[in-house]
Amino acid sequence: MNLSASALRCFSLLGFSLLGFSLLGFSLLGFCAGNAATAATVPFVATQAAQVQAVTSQKAAGNWFQYGFKPMGTQAYVEVYAADEQQAQQAFAKVEAEFSRVNALMSPWVEQSELSLLNRDAAKHPVTVSSEMYQLLKRAAAVSELSQGAFDVTFASVGFQFDYREHKKPDANTLASQKQWINYRYVELLPNNQVHYAKPGVKVDLGGIAKGYTVERSVQILANMGIRHALVSAGGDTRLLGDKLGQPWLVAIKHPRQEDRYAAQLPMVDSAISTSGDYERYFIEDGRRYHHILDPKTGESPGELMSVSVIGADATQTDALSTTLFVLGLERGMALIEQIPGYEAVFINKDRKLFFSSGLQ
Ligand code: ADP
Ligand code: MG
Repeated sequence: MNLSASALRCFSLLGFSLLGFSLLGFSLLGFCAGNAATAATVPFVATQAAQVQAVTSQKAAGNWFQYGFKPMGTQAYVEVYAADEQQAQQAFAKVEAEFSRVNALMSPWVEQSELSLLNRDAAKHPVTVSSEMYQLLKRAAAVSELSQGAFDVTFASVGFQFDYREHKKPDANTLASQKQWINYRYVELLPNNQVHYAKPGVKVDLGGIAKGYTVERSVQILANMGIRHALVSAGGDTRLLGDKLGQPWLVAIKHPRQEDRYAAQLPMVDSAISTSGDYERYFIEDGRRYHHILDPKTGESPGELMSVSVIGADATQTDALSTTLFVLGLERGMALIEQIPGYEAVFINKDRKLFFSSGLQ
């Protein structure tokens, strides 16, 4: 598909209020510029309203419970409709344990994680990993294929040279020499869960997919407990289980430059939304913004967009795709998302304009 920028529908962040349309069985009731007082403090504005609703509902056989914690260097939030407090506490403990478990397996900062062992040894000889790790690497590779390498977990040979908190970035020589190790094809997925890195300097970081994966798993764990209405979010990844007792969840997309405002709100049911932005981890030097998403081709942060949100059934996929579209930019990103059935996207570009994929229009 060949989309010119002028053919893309766009809405200014500051200048619109209501649109009506439906998609994927759920409807998008409206967008706002994010200045509603109720929308200013918590990420998900429906929380308190739902509590009231749960208390007053005749049919309700339970109650809403919320829980926040800080896994993987980010803020997580869980909300469940549970039979009683005991079930809710059990649900929260299971979700928190799942985040710890995946972190221990997949964090590059945990010395004994499976990922750390891979990064240490897989260039020397094939390493046998858990089938869980193997399957996630496979899913990452599929998104790399789909995006012709815009999503690439081997971005890490350059990515590991950055420390955003310390404002540290690689010099030109280091960037040039580390860039040569970026290529998802260098991660060879061999039979029997064996993984081999084809080149000596290859490093993998799953930061673009692991959080969505954990959010998705958490929701499956809640569903297995018999919970039918829940929300799990971590950083920019949110997965909803069911609806909010007959109403859609109202999920907000952060304003990329004002923390206390929203760019848009989307009513959603039983699906996931992931946002990638240039404002989560970054520093500015000489007027240039260095942020945590890197274009594998250049090793540099793409500058065209401020934020991309992807909406679809599965949080692992929305997570990987939001990072992917951020790298691809508006035109190529829009062309890609239009080819993926069941997935939609909202882009915010540098001029603070919003662009919606066709299923959202
Ligand atoms: P967040 O982690 O803030 O939710 P994203 O889902 O967009 O944001 O993921 C950004 C993370 O993805 C980065 O911190 C990094 O670990 C990883 N990443 C950066 N660039 C790429 C890329 N081109 N392909 C795959 N992963 C990437
Ligand atoms: Mg992502």
